[in-house]
Amino acid sequence: MYHTLCETEVFVVGGGPAGLAAAIAARQAGFAVTLADAAHPPIDKTCGEGIMPDGLAALHTLGVTIPVDAGFPFAGIRFADETASVSARFPQGCGLGVRRTHLHTVMLKRASEAGVTMHWGARVTGVRHDGVSVNGRNIRCQWLVGADGQKSRVRYWSGLQNAKHRTRRFGFRRHYRVEPWSEFVEVYWTRHGQIYVTPVASDSVCVALITKEPHVRLDDALAVCPELSARLNNAPLITREQGAITSTYRLRCVAAGTRALIGEASGSVDAITGDGLSMAFQQARALAHAMKRADLAGYSVAHRRIARLPRMMAEVMLLMDNSHWFRRRALRALEAEPSLFARMLAIHTGAMSPIRFGVHGTLSLGWQLITA
Ligand SMILES: Cc1cc2nc3c(=O)[nH]c(=O)nc-3n(C[C@H](O)[C@H](O)[C@H](O)COP(=O)(O)OP(=O)(O)OC[C@H]3O[C@@H](n4cnc5c(N)ncnc54)[C@H](O)[C@@H]3O)c2cc1C
Repeated sequence: MYHTLCETEVFVVGGGPAGLAAAIAARQAGFAVTLADAAHPPIDKTCGEGIMPDGLAALHTLGVTIPVDAGFPFAGIRFADETASVSARFPQGCGLGVRRTHLHTVMLKRASEAGVTMHWGARVTGVRHDGVSVNGRNIRCQWLVGADGQKSRVRYWSGLQNAKHRTRRFGFRRHYRVEPWSEFVEVYWTRHGQIYVTPVASDSVCVALITKEPHVRLDDALAVCPELSARLNNAPLITREQGAITSTYRLRCVAAGTRALIGEASGSVDAITGDGLSMAFQQARALAHAMKRADLAGYSVAHRRIARLPRMMAEVMLLMDNSHWFRRRALRALEAEPSLFARMLAIHTGAMSPIRFGVHGTLSLGWQLITA
């Protein structure tokens, strides 16, 4: 026997970054919004904790401003392996390293100010034609947004499970008490996968490993990465190692009827791109627009557009991960001509279209790959 709790226009399942962004954007579009999450804030999650400049811009349009002392800016990206290294600055703006718990606190505050009704410790246990069941009680809604992460139940309940392409890797992270030594997010390519370092405060860094080897842990990868090991030497650990799966998969549909998926529930790209959060923040605005126009087909189109570049970058990086030979050549080629890396980074952050990279960029990279 169900008991109706109340009604809302938009109901968001999941209060992680994607759910909070969706809720804020829907409030900005004038909807009455209710959100439920099974966990209690501030919610932590295994993450490299870097937000790219386009993600920060999207957050800004949602009215979310991360206080200066809650994060640490980074100017670009550096790639390194045993023999080569290359770095480039973002053409516009900076990225921001921020602890997930801080990001959650700031977004939650903004959602509360925007007038989102939030239920924490509230598990959604089913969806019905006119709403959802939260801990066995009903909330009716016009629009249902599934922001319930990688193992989304809303996706399953809505028949949107059909995925096109899947890769799976393992991610681990921990924090060290050490002053950031670089103005870049550093990505170290090792034979066990990529270790990347994001500055998250003036006295701490987040170190994350992404690997396809299930038994490898951060210490194993650090053991074959002397440059980074020397940097971290004796730095106290602030957090214990925490792991998660990172996948690349694309759904055939991200919306059906009055239901839509956002964030990792709606598909994802490998964590090495550092694009997961940025994509979710951009999707949130697109979804709110689409609900306002009562046209979720428009959201599906926008969702594909937002994912296009991150998918392309994920393909390149996974190719580098899979082929030691290709990675060596690519890094040496980029080291020989760093302006190519700068242009690739500009494409990655949406500041330059791939068309502008064009024939000249492709030929230069091809030449460097052959001669490096
Ligand atoms: C190792 C690793 C490193 C990464 N590094 C980066 C990075 O540097 N930069 C970046 O941008 N991205 C990174 N990502 C990706 C990023 O973490 C994700 O894109 C992001 O967490 C997705 O947010 P989300 O809100 O969609 O999902 P989640 O953060 O998983 O939130 C889902 C929420 O739904 C709730 N929930 C689930 N089921 C229910 C239910 N039935 N009822 C109620 N609530 C429910 C959960 O409690 C959870 O709070 C990384 C990922 C990994 C694994």
